[in-house]
Amino acid sequence: MKTDLKLTSREYKKENTIIQINKDIRVGDKEIVIIAGPCSVESKEQIFRISSELKKYGVHLIRAGAFKPRSSPYSFQGLGHEALQYLKEVKEKLKIGIVTEVMSIEHLKEVEDVADIIQIGARNAQNFELLKKVGKSKKPVLLKRGIATTIHEWLMSAEHIMVQGNHQIILCERGIRTFENSTRFTLDLNAIPAIKKMSHLPIIIDPSHGTGVREFVPSMSKAAIAAGADGLIIEVHDKPEEALSDGPQSIVPEEFKKLVNELRGIAKAVNRKL
Ligand code: PEP
Ligand code: MN
Repeated sequence: MKTDLKLTSREYKKENTIIQINKDIRVGDKEIVIIAGPCSVESKEQIFRISSELKKYGVHLIRAGAFKPRSSPYSFQGLGHEALQYLKEVKEKLKIGIVTEVMSIEHLKEVEDVADIIQIGARNAQNFELLKKVGKSKKPVLLKRGIATTIHEWLMSAEHIMVQGNHQIILCERGIRTFENSTRFTLDLNAIPAIKKMSHLPIIIDPSHGTGVREFVPSMSKAAIAAGADGLIIEVHDKPEEALSDGPQSIVPEEFKKLVNELRGIAKAVNRKL
């Protein structure tokens, strides 16, 4: 089938794209990349505590939101600028890369200053003005799939970024809205082989938002790696019952440690490394 996709397409580029993060992380290469951390930065103490523990368990990058896209205006909205400052300190003191979301063009410069990967959240997957601005950035972008966007539309969003000059895009499947309501979203693992066929860009999976249920995160993480995903982004909180956002889908550090060990075997079985 002839495609109207250009820069993202396999026709345009046959070999898999590898996104280099800092010196030693390569998303899309043989090694599986694991991003983990709390949904939100809640305090300086919280982000240091969780990040230090995750670092011991071999996480490649820390995730944590400063600006949070919340369905309700009455929910915690993120610590914003203050959180970015804490993330900067985590990055410098713990020597670990940071993935954090930009929600608005207004905050792009300061997010760029801290983030090793700029996250575009599901709600902004088709915010074309934001995508264009991120397209001018020198930083890699984690482009989440919108909750109701087709794979083709999602790749078109990536085109919006690429056409502005930024080709460093990591796609992230995070669950879509379906009629199913026993899970928060429906994690579309079909997206892995579909993206691998249509595009040269790397794809990672978010089993936390994709299920919304802590107990389901390990199974879906393993399934994702078995299906050929290049990495995972997982929400981890050491006191999930006290988390200011997404506690029910956050696993605790001990579970994360166990999961990483189990993923090693899966990675090996599909000729990947972890
Ligand atoms: C998040 O990563 O915490 C988040 C809000 O993700 P999404 O945009 O996929 O809902
Ligand atoms: Mn979250």
